Amino acid sequence: MIVMKFGGTSMGDVVRIRQAAEIVRDTGSPTEGKVVVLSAMSGVTNALIAAARAAEEGNTAESLRLVEEILEKHRQAATELAPSAAGEIMSYVQRKMDRVARLCESIAVLGELTPRALDMISSMGERFSVRLVAAALQQIGCAAQPIEAAELIITNDQFGSAVPLMEQSQRRIRERILPLVQQGIIPIVTGFMGATTAGIVTTLGRGGSDYSAAILGNCLDASEVQIWTDVDGVMTADPRVVPTARTLPVLSYTEAAELSYFGAKVLHPKTILPVVEKGIPLRIANTFHPTHPGTLIVEKPQKTGKGVKAIASIKGVSLLTVQGKGMMGVPGVAARVFSAVAREEVSVLMISQSSSEQNICFVVEGPYSQRLVQILEADFREEILFQHIDRIWAQDSVVVIAVVGAGMRGTPGIAAKLFGALGKPGINVLSIAQGSSEYNLSLAVDARDADDAVRHIHQEFRLGENSQ
Ligand code: ADP
Ligand code: ASP
Ligand code: MG
Repeated sequence: MIVMKFGGTSMGDVVRIRQAAEIVRDTGSPTEGKVVVLSAMSGVTNALIAAARAAEEGNTAESLRLVEEILEKHRQAATELAPSAAGEIMSYVQRKMDRVARLCESIAVLGELTPRALDMISSMGERFSVRLVAAALQQIGCAAQPIEAAELIITNDQFGSAVPLMEQSQRRIRERILPLVQQGIIPIVTGFMGATTAGIVTTLGRGGSDYSAAILGNCLDASEVQIWTDVDGVMTADPRVVPTARTLPVLSYTEAAELSYFGAKVLHPKTILPVVEKGIPLRIANTFHPTHPGTLIVEKPQKTGKGVKAIASIKGVSLLTVQGKGMMGVPGVAARVFSAVAREEVSVLMISQSSSEQNICFVVEGPYSQRLVQILEADFREEILFQHIDRIWAQDSVVVIAVVGAGMRGTPGIAAKLFGALGKPGINVLSIAQGSSEYNLSLAVDARDADDAVRHIHQEFRLGENSQ
């Protein structure tokens, strides 16, 4: 069984949707089962979220304009793609978008958008795209059936980033999917969404359709999970930043996890875990270049001589610093800092402490920074009064750059080369940390320097040259 996921970039327009349908038809042997997982058409999830947010601000005119825009996009796609099925598809889309419009009106009246309502609205795009693709497949002679993952993926009620309950999901997935596959029908499943045990729709987080595919792959013991997107696989850096970035033919699960955790958008960070658990190979491939083998992600790390394989970056973060000469040797300061952060349920992306212990630096997502500074100032009021701590402050507009590669372990000189690459053009490094796995070295720089820094590192390690 192969699980094939097509992202929003592969659902951009009718031409692309047809291409995706042909890839589904042509993949695997006739005896091999196929399950398809889909994202919404590109831009649709953003538009749905924007409609909900506009309603929250009382701007229902804008919500309704967006509702119309989404309707029109699907109407065009459905009529071009499958004229005979368009009526049925559009009556479904119309019904659901009427519901979205009504929900937006209620949100505007209440002046409040709950995470639950947002999940209900933002998951609509996937419910539409599965119907379009199922129709496109039928047009080219493949039996296909659209399925909403609310029936399959059971999650907790953490709306916006729901956690799947794997045992229950596995039971549902196998019961529903296996009989279809046995009859030669291709199930076309909505990515991104799930539902609580009570049947309330949840979402798995932005970009979460990759994760949906991995969950299905795990529960169905798939032989491969394929993520079809708009690039030839996982590349040595984001190709939008580094034009000379090159596709990596093979990566280990750990390397792929590190890259996605540190912002390589090509893969949702939670995707790796379900496939690792069952040792399922994960392939990243290009819908617009289907003959390219893409990237194969497997268990065994492949060492490269140079150590570094790829660079990723997380934008929009802040660097918090707790500084004070009086902190030297005082036990428990770090513990108190991080328990305060944990109490606020903020996750820390990177930590570093200078050996003189004069400061502790850590990186969090931008929107939390000012609140955390206030909380830490309150927690350390006495230490500040007695000048054990001089200052607690946040530097906003920071980017964390992670340099990743299994071969970095035990390869001397990587840090020196890295800082050399940034020193020459005069890029200031704000903070440095090495992951305990030694698979990654991360550094924080000012957002203005970030793209240049990535390009210089890419060049210094000659990542654009073929060596694997
Ligand atoms: P999809 O809609 O298929 O899920 P995404 O936009 O979520 O596609 O992810 C694909 C994009 O990820 C690429 O177009 C590319 O710009 C970006 N990207 C960022 N880092 C990398 C990387 N290291 N390798 C490949 N693509 C990357
Ligand atoms: N459509 C969802 C999003 O835009 C999920 C996905 O594309 O993976 O976040
Ligand atoms: Mg994506």
